[in-house]
Amino acid sequence: MKVTEICVDPASRRIRMTVEMPDPDRFLTSQVPHLPKMLFRLFPHLAHHKCDNGNGYTFRRECRATEIPHLFEHLIIELQAQAQPTEVLRGETQWNWRVDPRGRFYVYVDYENELLAIGAIRLAERIILALDRRDLEEADTEQHLARLRELARLGRELASPAEASGEAAETRPWSAIALAPEAV
Ligand SMILES: [Zn+2]
Repeated sequence: MKVTEICVDPASRRIRMTVEMPDPDRFLTSQVPHLPKMLFRLFPHLAHHKCDNGNGYTFRRECRATEIPHLFEHLIIELQAQAQPTEVLRGETQWNWRVDPRGRFYVYVDYENELLAIGAIRLAERIILALDRRDLEEADTEQHLARLRELARLGRELASPAEASGEAAETRPWSAIALAPEAV
């Protein structure tokens, strides 16, 4: 799994990511059952996430056979919530392979603190990749979470007055961080 683009929309406080699965035939958690299992062990609170998955499953049940980018979406939200107190954050995972290349997903997540959100995306990506290859040491969450909390503090300090007061900056356009495929 590779995040190839991160677009921040300050007006709606949403981030849209383009996520590519390098092997378009390997994108379901049912193909890597150790991945959700290890992730729920590291982040037990994920089991309490609400998930609108169309079949009424709990998120834990849904994770037995869901798209890996959907798991990634929930992990980004969980990391943001663990790093600073936050309102309810929502997310969504979409794809349309009739239009896009097979294996491409769009993941949307809400954010309150931009710097924290970018850090959470990068950390979530790293954790998913580490668990995929069963590298629990790399996925060591306590050390990562401490750094994420530090990033959250910096993000609050650096926030513009409008952001800090919770007002959406209506006039700012989308800002895109495009990542070269080999940059990650
Ligand atoms: Zn969900």
